[in-house]
Amino acid sequence: MTEHPSLDPRQMNRLRILEALYRHPQSSRAALARHTQLSRATVSALVEELVQAGLVEEGVGATAPGPGQEGGVGRPPLLLSLVSGAAFAVGLDFGHQHIRVALCDLSGEPVVDDYSPAEVDHAPIESLDLAQRLVHEALHTAGVARDRLLGVGMGLAAPINKATGNLEADGILPGWRGIRPAAEMEARLGIPVALENDANLGALGEKAFGAARGIDDLVYIRLSAGIGAGLILEGQPYQGFVGVAGEVGHVLSDPHGPICRCGNRGCLESVASPVAVAALLERSLRQPVSVSRLLELVDQGDRGARRAVAEAGEAVGRAVAMVVNVLNPELVVVGGDLAQAGEILLAPMTAAIERHSVAPAAAAVKVTAGMLGPRAEVLGAAALILAKSPRALVARLGA
Ligand SMILES: [Zn+2]
Repeated sequence: MTEHPSLDPRQMNRLRILEALYRHPQSSRAALARHTQLSRATVSALVEELVQAGLVEEGVGATAPGPGQEGGVGRPPLLLSLVSGAAFAVGLDFGHQHIRVALCDLSGEPVVDDYSPAEVDHAPIESLDLAQRLVHEALHTAGVARDRLLGVGMGLAAPINKATGNLEADGILPGWRGIRPAAEMEARLGIPVALENDANLGALGEKAFGAARGIDDLVYIRLSAGIGAGLILEGQPYQGFVGVAGEVGHVLSDPHGPICRCGNRGCLESVASPVAVAALLERSLRQPVSVSRLLELVDQGDRGARRAVAEAGEAVGRAVAMVVNVLNPELVVVGGDLAQAGEILLAPMTAAIERHSVAPAAAAVKVTAGMLGPRAEVLGAAALILAKSPRALVARLGA
């Protein structure tokens, strides 16, 4: 556990209880004693105090206790959880052509989930203004007072420089050059804003609430207008030295491929992003093909559409095989628009990973579609804030 020198021992113990309940909702007092390594008597006294403060609530376990859980014969255990409405976090996801907002309670449940199309790439200021309106509307709709809001997590489709908080936007999100998104959003909302790359947030979302729950070594691949990877290694998000780790969309896939927006040639993104795949079909179908139309065609069994998606899956798999060789993850979660193609994409992708990575790493890794769909990033953005909620709640309690 991280040490917090500014907290006195009593606050430190409160923090241990709240952190344990954040990670293990529905815990008995005995389970809390194990998670926190505090005595049963200390746990009971602290829980009593936190219940009085309106931060922890007690309910009867809905199911019979499993192996290793508490509860005598015929007496269901009293299980403790954080009061979900005690605090809230906002997630904001700036895609290339949309902004999504989710207002989540402490359990991560979105009480408001809203979406608006937006020209994010080319109109950053208008997009920031729109996001401000979406956040205000979400708070109003849910009737959540500002003092219940812990902060705003914000995702953007560009690498974020860890040291400066600036975007590494050149070639990736050129319209945002010179803009400091977190500071701009904070100025509009008057609430702390934490900025993170969208693929990293997808990884956090799937780990907190989706397909990667309980997994500590995972790679999240986002196949959207851009292709990116979010990395969680030994339970911690990994952003690299300056924050550019995971740019798997810009590894070489085809030396003879088109020039990419990053200035290189034949990047994975330029041959396997949903937009690139849809563009392949425009030639054969002689009509514009949107990504949603592409997915419809795949669904209807169109041979050309399935062929194009399968080849994209293979190209993604070859790139991911390198990542698997280097990082040896337990799980690869596939998100973004193209993940909706299901096995048409995943089967050739998995086969390419098996073929191109070393046997022990290939045998160890599972490949699965994400569970959160288009909400992975926005829920990850909220999770970025919610992970800090125990500390914020302790501060609210005072000495
Ligand atoms: Zn590129």
